[in-house]
Amino acid sequence: MNIPQATNFVEEIINEDLKNNVCSTIITRFPPEPNGYLHIGHAKSICLNFGIAQKYNGKCNLRLDDTNPEKEDVEYVESIKQDIQWLGFQWDGKVRHASDYFGQLYEWAKVLIKNGKAYVCDMSAEEIAATRGTPTEPGKESPYRNRSVEENLDLFERMKNGEFPDGSKTLRAKIDMASPNMHMRDPVMYRIKHATHHRTGDSWCIYPTYDWAHGQSDYIEGITHSICTLEFEVHRPLYDWFLDQIATGQRPKQIEFARLNLSFTVMSKRMLLRLVQEGFVNGWDDPRMPTIAGLRRRGYTPDSIKNFAKLVGVAKKDSTVDIALLEHCIRDDLNKSANRVMCVLNPLKVVILNYPDNDVEYVEGINNPEDSSAGTRSIPFSKVLYIERDDFMENPPKKFFRLSPGAEVRLRYTYFIKCVDIVKDSSGNITEIHCTYDPDTKDGYAPDGRKVKGTIHWVSAQQAIPAEIRLYDRLFTKENPSEVEEGKDFTDYINPDSLKVVNGFIEPYAKGARPYTNFQFERLGYFTVDPDSNDDKLIFNRTVTLKDTWAKIAQKE
Ligand code: ATP
Ligand code: MG
Repeated sequence: MNIPQATNFVEEIINEDLKNNVCSTIITRFPPEPNGYLHIGHAKSICLNFGIAQKYNGKCNLRLDDTNPEKEDVEYVESIKQDIQWLGFQWDGKVRHASDYFGQLYEWAKVLIKNGKAYVCDMSAEEIAATRGTPTEPGKESPYRNRSVEENLDLFERMKNGEFPDGSKTLRAKIDMASPNMHMRDPVMYRIKHATHHRTGDSWCIYPTYDWAHGQSDYIEGITHSICTLEFEVHRPLYDWFLDQIATGQRPKQIEFARLNLSFTVMSKRMLLRLVQEGFVNGWDDPRMPTIAGLRRRGYTPDSIKNFAKLVGVAKKDSTVDIALLEHCIRDDLNKSANRVMCVLNPLKVVILNYPDNDVEYVEGINNPEDSSAGTRSIPFSKVLYIERDDFMENPPKKFFRLSPGAEVRLRYTYFIKCVDIVKDSSGNITEIHCTYDPDTKDGYAPDGRKVKGTIHWVSAQQAIPAEIRLYDRLFTKENPSEVEEGKDFTDYINPDSLKVVNGFIEPYAKGARPYTNFQFERLGYFTVDPDSNDDKLIFNRTVTLKDTWAKIAQKE
């Protein structure tokens, strides 16, 4: 095989293994626990594992690490599959499960017992924790450590047969209670849980721990490189020790990389679950969630997420990535692909006094200046328009170049208008403004050469379509919401203004737009059609505003 150029340290290790004929076909895996929806951190791991398989013409398995029956759910399994495919990846063959291997793992556990490498321990979880010692002090050996092989085999079988209550016994590896590595101090391999598993039902009441299940599952599947996050580095000696006990063929190699942390975001599934369960957001796919489902609903594209993963790179040291980089990636993608439309979020009525009452004419709008193949559209223009309330000021400060009494502006794609009058209600609120237009400026320029400083967006009131627009902002106000101060909870840092719903008007061009269609609302940002949107009610989610803070930072550097 031609060895490709390595672009990160994981690929360097793979290339070294290929050169040394340690393996020939590269097989990786993505092993989520189905106890929540996948998030942007998982997306990074997906891009890495599936990306390597693509690059090396290898394979990547999807394996559900379903060893914790109480926390797992079929809804999560389905969402995991959907999200991986939406990103554009396909696992090799069937979806695999750690639970496919429960039988084999049980047999191997008996091999360890027979070789004097595992024993049944009657201590409770608390007692085990209390006798583990500390990193500087050795632990205490269990009084059950020297049970005979026969007794261990008998007790282990009875554990499996359901003779003992939850938590009353465990199977532990017999390694070294004085090891400087705490994970090597007789780690638990099996615990008793009389729980119904979403796949194996009630067949099992003993469940393997992550450490016992993971490496052996990798081995069964012929995984060559088992890529995981840094917190598992300290588990690696145990990963290898277990393989020493059972493996005869080619063994998987565990490689650790830094997990992705994002500013203004929590990523732990435990915290994400709380946000959902306690109603801080409207479900796992709420557009404010860092889940793949949430990002999709927010308007993120697979390409933007993959590009983000590429820019972040693969590191050996943990760090936090600025969420502005993620926002930059979606702006960059949508700038190239999203059609432009005009939408008014906070409408102010404008009547053009000198325009014929019932006329409608059309002006041409460019759908995407970055992509000429996107063409143009006709935008209706008539006597009554809506403009953005913010684009008018009765008493403007200096340098306000939008509309104000006596001032002239350009309406995007067409005429110059001038404000001649303001209409107010009895409480003094402006209800509409009256303007005149210059019929000679239809193409946006004055034949006499006079200039205007401002161009504002607008819609024609009669043809515009009402739309609900959900203005999403960052969910947290604190840069690192997982770092919780004394006496506080991470939910205390939730941004109270993370969602604002407004009712606006959009050009008729958006009529019938399908869910997940992305638009740039001119001057306002990128918006996507929400899946709850339909022909009777158009609903848009704001993906991101136009202001790119990351691009500015990057330019300065
Ligand atoms: P959490 O801590 O959020 O619950 P987890 O690590 O328990 O996440 P798993 O479902 O076990 O979640 O993870 C599946 C795979 O995704 C693992 O290989 C894990 O290393 C990887 N992964 C999880 N979170 C991140 C992250 N933030 N950055 C990169 N990879 C991640
Ligand atoms: Mg996990």
